[in-house]
Amino acid sequence: MSEAATLTRKADFPGLVTQDGKPWHYLDTAASAQKPQVVVDAMSRALGRDYATVHRGVYGRSAQMTLGYEAARRRVADFIGARSENEVVFVRGATEAINLVAATWGMTRIGQGDRIILSTLEHHSNIVPWQMLAERTGAEIEVCPLTEDGRIDLGGLEALLSQRTKLVALAHVSNVLGSVLDARRAADLAHSVGAKILLDGCQAAPRMKLDMAALDCDFYVFSGHKLYGPTGIGVLWAREDILDHMPPYQGGGSMIEKVAFDGTTYAPPPQRFEAGTPMITEAIALHAAIDYVDALGPDWLFEHETALAAKLRAELRKLNDVTLFGPEESAGIVSFALDGVHPHDLGTILDEENVAIRAGHHCAQPLMEYLGVPATARASFGLYSDEDDIAALMRGIERTRRIFG
Ligand code: PMP
Repeated sequence: MSEAATLTRKADFPGLVTQDGKPWHYLDTAASAQKPQVVVDAMSRALGRDYATVHRGVYGRSAQMTLGYEAARRRVADFIGARSENEVVFVRGATEAINLVAATWGMTRIGQGDRIILSTLEHHSNIVPWQMLAERTGAEIEVCPLTEDGRIDLGGLEALLSQRTKLVALAHVSNVLGSVLDARRAADLAHSVGAKILLDGCQAAPRMKLDMAALDCDFYVFSGHKLYGPTGIGVLWAREDILDHMPPYQGGGSMIEKVAFDGTTYAPPPQRFEAGTPMITEAIALHAAIDYVDALGPDWLFEHETALAAKLRAELRKLNDVTLFGPEESAGIVSFALDGVHPHDLGTILDEENVAIRAGHHCAQPLMEYLGVPATARASFGLYSDEDDIAALMRGIERTRRIFG
């Protein structure tokens, strides 16, 4: 797709201008993506003209909304190459998805002395739920090392695996370094000792073609708001035979088959895991977001964002006071540090130039400790990003260097 096409894309996103109508160089898509107007419209229609709750109503509007909600589930299943929509559980986001797996599958399948392998670069939401599970069960956490350039070291993973390993939980794409995991190889390794593998796809789902069958993982999680959809919705995908044997997460309406004081029975998946009134409007808007992203093609997205990341890294490398973190090939996420300037100061000066980056630990404190820094500056691209955004960022960095001498 040409630069001109990218420019037209920008026009689809009402959030990409400042309050006074100037271009806003949004380089924080890894935290949350801007929404195309079609998503805003879908959400607005679902909340307005079309609104009713799902599953219970006998009137037409409710039946329509139920169809819309279930169509969203089928669309997700199709988008990620699931075998069946019954493998798709709607949750609040990736964080809830991981907590759900820990609290249900984890509490029944993991015990004293079992091992859970994570990596140094995980987001806190793929660390803390497992630590909580380990505290409750007496399991142990092991940490897979990184290669020198900041990728998960699969040789290191192989060395850690044993018959005691019950779960390997890894980021498909790092939210700090943009490193891409060879997920299929990681899955094969985990399975070689009979362990399950969970992939945190928060940063992969918006940028890569996903195919659950080809990845051969057991659990896959992501958040809608990073995939150009609304907040408050995310996806837990799990193999049907695994979901079938998982106990419920929360109890309440919609997740039951029959309720009686002498014993309640539960609905089959995915309903078993969706207690209460679900995120109806969010699911419908996520459907619109997936349609939008899919029309561009996930392969194009990956190429577009890796090319921008390579371009930015090349620009930053020209400066002798910049440290770059992570591998050369990054899936659209670039972390760096400017000598003598705290990332927060850089972020504040860039904000004056209408450039939005992220500064901080990115919910990856163990990775910061490993890198030996308290924080990094992070620029992350989206489908609407272009070279103008890079130019604006570089102008802002130049200004910051002048201010700090
Ligand atoms: N994992 C990764 C890799 C992420 O980037 C994020 C969001 N920053 C999360 C998990 C958590 O996602 P959420 O806050 O939407 O639940």
